[in-house]
Amino acid sequence: MVPTFVSRAVGRPAPGRITAALRAALGLAVDVALPRLCPACREPVADAGLCAACWSKLSFIARPYCERLGIPFPFDSGPGLLSMEAMADPPAYGRARAAVRYDEVARTLVQAFKYGDRLDLAPVMGRWMARAGQELFDGAHALVPVPLHWRRQWARRFNQSALLAEVVGKENRLPVAYTALRRMKATPQQVGLSQSQRAANVQGAFRVPDEGKPEVTGRRLILVDDVLTSGATADTCARALLRAGAANVDVLVFARVVAATRAPI
Ligand SMILES: [Zn+2]
Repeated sequence: MVPTFVSRAVGRPAPGRITAALRAALGLAVDVALPRLCPACREPVADAGLCAACWSKLSFIARPYCERLGIPFPFDSGPGLLSMEAMADPPAYGRARAAVRYDEVARTLVQAFKYGDRLDLAPVMGRWMARAGQELFDGAHALVPVPLHWRRQWARRFNQSALLAEVVGKENRLPVAYTALRRMKATPQQVGLSQSQRAANVQGAFRVPDEGKPEVTGRRLILVDDVLTSGATADTCARALLRAGAANVDVLVFARVVAATRAPI
């Protein structure tokens, strides 16, 4: 079983983990001594999160958008409209919702969270996601974080999607199904790959392990990830969950790539 962030944190110390613990302790000491910095521009801020200037540059996603994929539309042409993508190539999942567009500020925020030891950003990012995904929670049974391969999780010490799912779950009293999905392949990073390369990259990468089946079969699930780019990862995860008998799979991410201005059809 791939251990969760919590069980990892209290697990048996290993050489790598001692260094990590030391870093965490030093980070804590620095946090107390110095003001917090905006993860995007490094200006001091009062609370965890962005400064007012960077906040104003974030593009929160709101209606009108494609009811299926959550891709924002430039203008409102009435309720229930679908994007061209949703019609031409419908995903395995039901609906996808995202808090913000994946632009410069969002990218800086995600990178600070994932690679910059800014785990304190999880509550604010998770709360924005909870707001964006409000309509998904009604009737949902659990949140399923997109898992990392165990080797990557060991190196990073945490799964960013699980941390976000924990915040969203707390806000909406939904459990996090940590063992529902397992990443079987340590797939290369999706950055720089074309859409078809991304799909091939994650093909067969996820599976519902036997111990995860009770959390999946007959359940209405919400897949949680930090960023949605081509949707290949979300689609592959949704397929694995549906194959294992999930009743429904929706997707909730912090940020999604929005390619260009699209008109509804
Ligand atoms: Zn800032």
